[in-house]
Amino acid sequence: MPPPMPRASAGHPVAGGGGAAYQRALMSSSLPRSAATPDGVHPFPHRHLLGIAGLHAWEISFLLDEAEQWVALNRTPTKHDDRLAGLTQINAFFENSTRTLLSFEIAGKRLGADVVNMGVAQSSVKKGETLIDTAVTLNAMRSDVIVIRHDASGAVGLIADKVDCPVLNAGDGRHEHPTQALLDALTIRRRKGKIAGLTVAICGDVLHSRVARSNIIALGTMGAQVRVVAPPTLMPPAIDRMSVEPFTDFEKGIAGADVVMMLRLQRERMAGGFVPSEREYHAFHGLTPEKLAHAAPDALVMHPGPMNRGVEITSSVADDPQRSAITEQVEMGVAVRMACLDVLTRSRRGVEGWA
Ligand code: ASP
Ligand code: ASP
Repeated sequence: MPPPMPRASAGHPVAGGGGAAYQRALMSSSLPRSAATPDGVHPFPHRHLLGIAGLHAWEISFLLDEAEQWVALNRTPTKHDDRLAGLTQINAFFENSTRTLLSFEIAGKRLGADVVNMGVAQSSVKKGETLIDTAVTLNAMRSDVIVIRHDASGAVGLIADKVDCPVLNAGDGRHEHPTQALLDALTIRRRKGKIAGLTVAICGDVLHSRVARSNIIALGTMGAQVRVVAPPTLMPPAIDRMSVEPFTDFEKGIAGADVVMMLRLQRERMAGGFVPSEREYHAFHGLTPEKLAHAAPDALVMHPGPMNRGVEITSSVADDPQRSAITEQVEMGVAVRMACLDVLTRSRRGVEGWA
């Protein structure tokens, strides 16, 4: 994605979110507000959200700030807002997912959209339909926003080019998973009060991970020092081109880290031979209380889920409420997805300042 072009005509930032819950969330929060959007620049001038690459820090901050109102709303008994009423949201998932699909479905429903899920099993993709045909079909149904997951890197961008409505990437191959990186950034910002200046160690199967890629870009853009920690076979060969510090020794890699983000060992993306055995992987690269002692004393433990307990992380660490932010990540996921669905559909809804 090319870097966004400032749109001078769009005027000053218009939060557009409004709402009492939002105002309360802003006023009650002592967390730092977003880096100011430069004067005359639209707060989020993108039609789609295909990745984190190409986003400015203030655009990421804007989405995180927008998500705060939804964290507040989701903690009330009614949890409902009608701003997407009458809009159709299609969740087209060409790769298995339970958590992300559920999260996008809940997010759309809480905003009042008509949400339709299209899973791999029902889709004509199994019957040989090409990706372009699928895109044309989705477009003909006049959806207002499409959320896509696909096992091929770049497939979501290809579909986005062929449809008239905003497209949200819910994970494409090894490429990007932007809402995961946003929810991780929100979790870190709420727990630590900031992102800039923190040392974040992203550990495990970096090679196969779109979560790692999106997080490396997002956290780096927000000013964190990012390390990646992986055995040599799971370290991407081009890692030097991303601004991270690579480590193959786990304990050295997490030494003094403020955040230890574990990744799932992606067995479905391995043809074999990447790790000698899960036992050995756990011994050297699994997060245990003993290994966590090398990180900063108040280090936050994260995992995007689903977890392989006893492989990349032991249960006692994953379930420790003092250290682990794993369930909070799931909670932030719904709020971040509500923010993205709201912001990306503002132009279609004719929200002032977004037309
Ligand atoms: N990778 C999948 C997801 O994020 C895992 C799952 O569905 O449980 O949704
Ligand atoms: N749920 C994340 C994803 O879809 C992480 C994972 O599956 O390991 O990429």
